[in-house]
Order: sequence, then structure tokens, then C-alpha cells
Amino acid sequence: MILLLTGTPGTGKTTISRLLSDKLNARLVAVNQLVDQKHLYTGLDPDKHYKIVDIQALIQEMDEAAQNYRDSEDWLILEGHLSHYYQPADLVVVLRASPPILEERLKNRKWKPEKVKENLEAEALDICAWEAGDIHGALAQEVDTTHKMPQDVVKTIIEIIRGERTSPLGGVNFLDQMDL
Ligand code: ADP
Ligand code: MN
Repeated sequence: MILLLTGTPGTGKTTISRLLSDKLNARLVAVNQLVDQKHLYTGLDPDKHYKIVDIQALIQEMDEAAQNYRDSEDWLILEGHLSHYYQPADLVVVLRASPPILEERLKNRKWKPEKVKENLEAEALDICAWEAGDIHGALAQEVDTTHKMPQDVVKTIIEIIRGERTSPLGGVNFLDQMDL
């Protein structure tokens, strides 16, 4: 079984994936680490704010990691804001967090103001959720973490896995919290 955990930077993917992998006894692959370890980038963007990831090479590496999990009851979690580019998956969870909360978290990373703003806008415009839905259809669901403790987010995802709850895309609207 393959779970893709995606979302705008700062929405809690790394935090949640660690807790969730414990609960599910899952193998956890952090996609950012994969990119670094296997040098899956073609260079730096002109402002040197981030690496330009070689998406095709990344998909190939994710596919390799997924080999033993596609027809297995064991879970693999691919965690990262590019993980939703991989398919096939059994479930795609897009983590969401309101722009003011994201802003606080991303400022803590000492990111440049433009980079923070870019990501807040991406969250307000549902970019990640939209892409995940475009690629995975109804397999993609979203969980608003805004007023949830990490343990509660994990609980929600486990309920989705068990089919006890659905949380379809489109239920989150952060547009009114942004001056675009
Ligand atoms: P991502 O991997 O998506 O960039 P992180 O897991 O690194 O996000 O989380 C970013 C920051 O937000 C961390 O400091 C983390 O402790 C905090 N955080 C994540 N999820 C929650 C949550 N549900 N409630 C409160 N803080 C959280
Ligand atoms: Mn992370």
C-alpha cells in the first residue's frame, strides 16, 4: 500500500509522517532526503532560493522505493511536497494549514520574504491540492491541520485509511485570509 503525504512547506508533513509511520508500522521515505542523497536536481533557481528538482528522475526513484509495496498490505509513506507527482498510489493526503499559521512557521525557517509569500499564496490558491486532485482524482483527500494537534491529524488520516471518514478536496478555503 502506498500513501503519498503532500502539502505546502510548513503544513506538517515531516512531523505527521513520523507519527503516522509509527502507527502504521510503515516504511517512511522523505522525498526531500531522496532528492539530496541521489542528487535529483538539475541546478539552483536563478535566485538560489531552492534546488530545481529533476522530476522525472525523482519519479523513477520513488518508483524504485515503491516496488515492494504496490501489491503488499505493508504501507510505504512517501512524504514531501513533490510526492503527489508519483502514481499509482492507494491514498494521497494533502495537509493544509491556514496562511497566518504557515507564515509563522516559514519565517522561523529564516526563508526570504519572497519565498515565504510565494508559499503562502500557493496554499491560499490550493495549488498542491489542485495538482494532487488532477493526478489522483478521488484518491486525493485533504486534511486541514489548522486547529489540530499532530496526534489528531494522524488519527484523522488513520480513519480515512480505514474508510471510517472521507475528507474530499475542496473543503478548505483560505483565500479570504490572504491579500493577493
Ligand atoms: P513540513 O514537513 O510540511 O514542511 P513540518 O513537519 O516540518 O512541516 O512542520 C513545520 C513546523 O510546524 C514544525 O515546527 C512543526 O513542529 C510544526 N507543526 C507541524 N504540524 C503541527 C500541528 N498540527 N500543530 C502545531 N504545530 C505543528
Ligand atoms: Mn518537511
